[in-house]
Amino acid sequence: MKRKKHNPLIPVLLTVVLLALTVLLFLLVRMLMDGRGFRTDSCEPEKRTEAGEIAIVTPAPTLLDLYVYFDWTETTTINVYDHRADKIVPMDLEEYIVGVVSAEMPAYYEFEALKAQAVASRTYTLYRMAHGRCQTNPDADVCTNSKCCQAFSTHERMQNTWGKDYANNYNRIAEAVMGTAGEVLVYDGKLCDALYHACSGGQTEDSEHVYANALPYLRGVDSPYEDPMRTEDVAIGEDALIELILTKYPDSGITDDNYRDLIAIDKAYPSGRVETLRLGKETITGKQARNLFGLRSTMFTIIWPEDGIVFHTKGFGHGVGMSQNGANGMAKHGSKYRDILLHYYTDVSIASYGADGIATPAPGDADIPPEPEG
Ligand SMILES: [Zn+2]
Repeated sequence: MKRKKHNPLIPVLLTVVLLALTVLLFLLVRMLMDGRGFRTDSCEPEKRTEAGEIAIVTPAPTLLDLYVYFDWTETTTINVYDHRADKIVPMDLEEYIVGVVSAEMPAYYEFEALKAQAVASRTYTLYRMAHGRCQTNPDADVCTNSKCCQAFSTHERMQNTWGKDYANNYNRIAEAVMGTAGEVLVYDGKLCDALYHACSGGQTEDSEHVYANALPYLRGVDSPYEDPMRTEDVAIGEDALIELILTKYPDSGITDDNYRDLIAIDKAYPSGRVETLRLGKETITGKQARNLFGLRSTMFTIIWPEDGIVFHTKGFGHGVGMSQNGANGMAKHGSKYRDILLHYYTDVSIASYGADGIATPAPGDADIPPEPEG
């Protein structure tokens, strides 16, 4: 009987493979553990959502990892008022910007659009801080309420919103933020009031047509690649229309017999946004009309159906500064974030926050909160 011969190398090879597997397993466990080191208070490893489901916790890099990755050493701590939790949370500026971009722009937007948003949001934040801080909570630099400062997502909110895409989306946005860390928009050496909105409808607006001040870098420009272009028809029936108008403007003299003749666009800006709308004996601004009829923007025309009225609107938001959908469209057509920013903010340059050359901006400019992404 022939005895089977063992190769003396086999036990050695097996030992080497086992050792390698152990090391790999150790590294994997360490990576997973590191990913939980978020610095926001709201992030807990496992949390029940309101619906009673377990929120998915997937590893995402800590901001610290990204600081090392991007060799970014300067940090700025700001006090953020979390209006939902009613508490002030000190946080790193860049970490705050990740939360803002997560809430203000869809995570699936083009990477260069996310970077442009990061620079706009950072500039807007620092400009606000230099101009009287948060109006809601004067003890804070900024708050998380989009009606006052900018929208913001905590890790918990990101997990609940994104579910299994949380890690991917977070990493993508954090990379866009850290890839532009410290970059801000300046005009004439001073921080800009970097307003932005969801969709311009094809043309942005001069700041003085919407707000008090004519700012040289907030000029109306073409926005050729709005993606998506937001259009909406708002239909209001005859009875509802008359009631809506008379409740707010009882002296307008509008009745169900005359409304077709007495409601008309009075003046429009070259962009197509309505400057004034005639309601019988009253003339209201486009902004007042937008509020009254619940329109997405003041860029609208009137259509007369059989009964009532239809406002055909284009765009979403105030129309001043960068259009987010326009930025996404430009990025799809190959523009880099710098091209996008220099397109929407006239004659600005990109500077590093904290570097020499940024003078403290003069106070007194219009206080204009951005509009949330719709
Ligand atoms: Zn605020």
